[in-house]
Amino acid sequence: MKYYITTLGCPKNEADSREMDKSLLLEGFEKTQKPENADFHIINTCAFIEDAKKETIQTIFQALELKEFLINKNKDQKLIVVGCFAERYHKEIEIEIPEIDYFFGTGLYHRTGELIRNKFQIPLKQNVDYHKILKNIHSPKKFYAPVKISEGCNRNCSFCAIPLFRGNFRFREKSEIIKEILELSGMGIKEICLVSQDTNSYGNHYNDIINLLEEIEQLKGIEWIRLLYLYPDKKTQKILQEIHKNQFKKFVPYLESPVQHVSEKVLKKMNRFGNYEFFKELFLMARELFPELEIRTSFLIGFSEETSEDIELIKQFIEELQIEHISFFAFSPEENTPAYQYASSINKKEIIEKINDLQNYYNELLKSIMIKNYNKIYKCILEKIKPKELHLRRPQAAPEIDDIVIVPFDYKSWKEKYSQLPKLGEFYEVEITDSISYDYIGNIKNPVLMEH
Ligand code: SF4
Repeated sequence: MKYYITTLGCPKNEADSREMDKSLLLEGFEKTQKPENADFHIINTCAFIEDAKKETIQTIFQALELKEFLINKNKDQKLIVVGCFAERYHKEIEIEIPEIDYFFGTGLYHRTGELIRNKFQIPLKQNVDYHKILKNIHSPKKFYAPVKISEGCNRNCSFCAIPLFRGNFRFREKSEIIKEILELSGMGIKEICLVSQDTNSYGNHYNDIINLLEEIEQLKGIEWIRLLYLYPDKKTQKILQEIHKNQFKKFVPYLESPVQHVSEKVLKKMNRFGNYEFFKELFLMARELFPELEIRTSFLIGFSEETSEDIELIKQFIEELQIEHISFFAFSPEENTPAYQYASSINKKEIIEKINDLQNYYNELLKSIMIKNYNKIYKCILEKIKPKELHLRRPQAAPEIDDIVIVPFDYKSWKEKYSQLPKLGEFYEVEITDSISYDYIGNIKNPVLMEH
């Protein structure tokens, strides 16, 4: 029986899909690369904000069209919807989309194979080769993997529905995380992105995350460790100081810390910690500790009582702190959250205007931020070889969301000039020469593979 997983949403979902892969393969299912070839099409959904829900619904309906098309060709494909959307809207799914054959929410990913087998009465395949399975989980062309260190969140930001469908905060045992990373390094993974809803709450003390990093540092094959989603508070400050003190070599100079706003009045209404001055102190401290560091943050725009002065404050902040990577999101009132009370007072058109204004402002600023990186040399990982160009990524850029470095490439002249051909997943010294939109242009400084 063949399956295909469509994954929507964030890197946390990607980690969950990997868990589903493992469970399905262990139960004897076979992975296929195209949804039309699958007996089971599984959609791992997202329900974070309005746009994510729209995308999920659209994807479900596209999958239903495919199912219909296959029925006409006498193939009975089953559509299975799992994850955040299924958890949050299970009643609605049951009533409004009965064509979905099966659904389940978050927290059961590791049992996907068993659940599907039981539901559709598929006999268990014997003698499954675990090592062969591990090889099948990852694309040989991917060298990074998100690894979940905890699940759920206790922070209660007033706009956020995540705790409603991901539950309270709980963290994974260090040994379990290390085991997963060891398996990933065996599959050729070189970069580990530690993900969760609330990374700095990991463990019982901030030392627990330091101990975890220390252990990952020792793992052969892992070259880069990236911490994603550090809540911008004093604990993050402490964690950064400890990382610096420990001189972790594999920790990439990248801080992802979503401030969501800089106006203290708005932050209070969001039930979030911080203000302009604190975030400034945090980011400046991070830059001082790690001089090569780049920062990613996000802003939630259009929250209740946000004024034009508050928007100006955001502009002032991003200019003063010269932030390299920013996402602006529109506030969308989610059912069963405290901020849902503002649903009737928000003006969607106004929010879009504010975001466009901020984005335009930021795009101009970003050009000058990116120019500062010209002539710098980075150790980059090669992720794609195209007929006329190579795509590499700097340690300061997270996979799939940040910039890449495009290097012009000519197979023939490269072959004539150098003894070794470029190799995916290897590291090269790249000099930045220019930029195009959000990406950089560069030259390989050293065509010989770098020593790790
Ligand atoms: S920190 Fe806030 S925004 Fe992030 S998951 Fe937790 S409640 Fe949601």
